[in-house]
Parts: sequence; C-alpha cells; structure tokens
Amino acid sequence: MAEQAQATAETGPRPIVPFLKLGAEPHLVGSKCSCGAIFLDTKRLACSKCGSTGPFQTIKLSTRGKVYVFSVVHQSFPGIKTPYITAIVDLPEGVSVRTNLLDLDPLALEKDPKPLFDMPVEMVTHVVAKDREGNDVVAFAFRPIKH
Ligand SMILES: [Zn+2]
Repeated sequence: MAEQAQATAETGPRPIVPFLKLGAEPHLVGSKCSCGAIFLDTKRLACSKCGSTGPFQTIKLSTRGKVYVFSVVHQSFPGIKTPYITAIVDLPEGVSVRTNLLDLDPLALEKDPKPLFDMPVEMVTHVVAKDREGNDVVAFAFRPIKH
C-alpha cells in the first residue's frame, strides 16, 4: 500500500491504459503463456487456449502491425471530435488491438475502403488530457507507416 501511494505521488506522463508503457520507446505489453499463446495486457487470470492459470511472462509487443478491420465513427460522446476511424490491428505476436487510426481521411476511406485492409501501421502516442495533478495522460493510436 505504501508503495502504491508513493507511485501515484510521482509526476510525469501517465498511460491511459495499464498495458501501454511509455518512455523512450513506447510500446504495448502482453502476457505469454507457457503454451505459446499471447494476450494483450498483463492482467490475464487464465489462458483461453490451454486453461493454465500462469504464471504468465510479460512481453513487449511489436509497435507495428496490420489493419484487420475498421469502421468510421460519426457519432460519439460529447466533446469527441468525429468522424474518426476505429480499427482492429493485428500484431505479429497474434494479438489484436482495438485502436484508433490517425493520419487518414475517414470520409475518403468510406468511399474506397480497400486500401486500408492489411495496411501496415505503426503505433504512436499522443497526449489526450491532463489529470488532476496536471500530468499528461497519454493514449496510443496507429497510423500508416511512412517510408
Ligand atoms: Zn496457455
């Protein structure tokens, strides 16, 4: 308990979800079972493939993947700018990540969605809000890989 209180007293950017790790090379983390199955996040209680309850190894996930499916969102909560693109991105580890896609024109993609399926994308982070202590709250998204 004392350790937790100390951790929250620290200042600096905060990830919006626990499986996003910040720092010099921001990345997502997953849990790897002894059977080889990998899951997003490290809060896994049991493996859906073999039923093992762990322990699971925490692993760094790739910051690059491919768009599996996407949807253009036109209506959202008050204060959320629309339209935007929500997608499921497949990572090479076999993990699927729910995310938003940046740097693309949502309306153009609705007219011609073909280029987006299987598109290689990379993870980026961006500040979405400030918490009560004034620390940046950082979220992740994916965007097309620029060559
Ligand atoms: Zn397993």
